[in-house]
Amino acid sequence: MAESLHDHYRRLLGLQTPWEVSDVKLDLAQQRVQIRLNWIEGYQQGNCPECGKSVRLYDLAPERRWRHLDTMQFETLLITRTPRIQCPEHGIKTVTVPWAGKNSRFTLMLEAFAIALLEGSATIKEAAKLLKMDWHSVHQIMERAVSRGLERRDQEAIRHLGLDEKGFGRGHSYVTVLTDLSAGRVLEVVPERTQEAAESTLESLSQTQRQAVQAVAADMWQPYAQAVRKLAPEAALVHDKFHVAKLIHEALDQVRRQEHRALGGGKNSPLTKSKYLWLRNPLDFNPEQKEHFETLRQSELKTARAWHLKQTFANFWFLHAQGSARKFFARWYNWAVRSRLRPMAQVARKLKTHLQGLLNYFCHRISNAPTEGLNSKIQFLKHAARGFRTFHNYRTRILFFCGKLDLYPTLH
Ligand SMILES: [Zn+2]
Repeated sequence: MAESLHDHYRRLLGLQTPWEVSDVKLDLAQQRVQIRLNWIEGYQQGNCPECGKSVRLYDLAPERRWRHLDTMQFETLLITRTPRIQCPEHGIKTVTVPWAGKNSRFTLMLEAFAIALLEGSATIKEAAKLLKMDWHSVHQIMERAVSRGLERRDQEAIRHLGLDEKGFGRGHSYVTVLTDLSAGRVLEVVPERTQEAAESTLESLSQTQRQAVQAVAADMWQPYAQAVRKLAPEAALVHDKFHVAKLIHEALDQVRRQEHRALGGGKNSPLTKSKYLWLRNPLDFNPEQKEHFETLRQSELKTARAWHLKQTFANFWFLHAQGSARKFFARWYNWAVRSRLRPMAQVARKLKTHLQGLLNYFCHRISNAPTEGLNSKIQFLKHAARGFRTFHNYRTRILFFCGKLDLYPTLH
């Protein structure tokens, strides 16, 4: 009976000689199964974990335990004294056990199960509860999975990259995120929003990969442009159209605020309660809003002129070629700088200095916006990460959930 139980566990664990199951103890009170493993006596050789050479055994390391998948609802532990070898080159080392990764307190099978559970869980806390583990242990499994995935990541060519900043934690901290736009996956996350940060995200790719990049979508932040020029000099910089739209929105809103104040504010100003009407798409208005906005739009207000500038620029992105886009921009630019609307003139000048980056869009139609909901996923992780907001944890989560990495351990 005992023999067959030992054999059962030996096969479940996929153990091979010289490992054997020497004892299975069922502790009903503690609801626990303890499986003792043994290195068969007589095997005097083991492989050095550093060089793989078969060398002489030295002794047995102190007893260690690994948590394994539960047996029914019983917590299941593997226990052994792992042999140590003496390698002429590397000294005394503990042999690699086939059921667990280095320095892990969990078996590979349990790690694989935890990864699958995490992938389907809303939060780490929820996964931890289901696994009957503390948060820290689950986090460690995630970290190991991410480094495993990063090590395995291919060196294939990536045509289109996205370089973007994301808010992180309280206040004005940022992280820089590098994405593979075609595959919709995050490649690297680095603290801060600086040229160095952008460079270190790009350095996560090999030099050959960087040379094969055709275009990078980024905002007009100069340090990002410099990082791209330095590390991926062959790549065209494409200014993100959503970022451009945001700048024009902000300029329009500035015109509205200034005018509202100049007209006496409050009920005296026809601009009262109009903020969102100028910024939203008129197609989404209800009949009442539509009527209100029609009157405003056709008025002599400065804000109305600024809105026409904004609205007209939106057509830029629908043009078919660089040539017509260049002509369109020249006309729009002249209109904006002569509009006597300072914020609009300012934004037009800014766009003119970055014109090549805008025109590059017509060769590489990329932007940082909706790559498979990546942005909203990252946003969700940020909120879910409340309470333990160190950068390192945030990076682990983003790469675990958005890196499309091969996270699972190879089971022996
Ligand atoms: Zn060695």
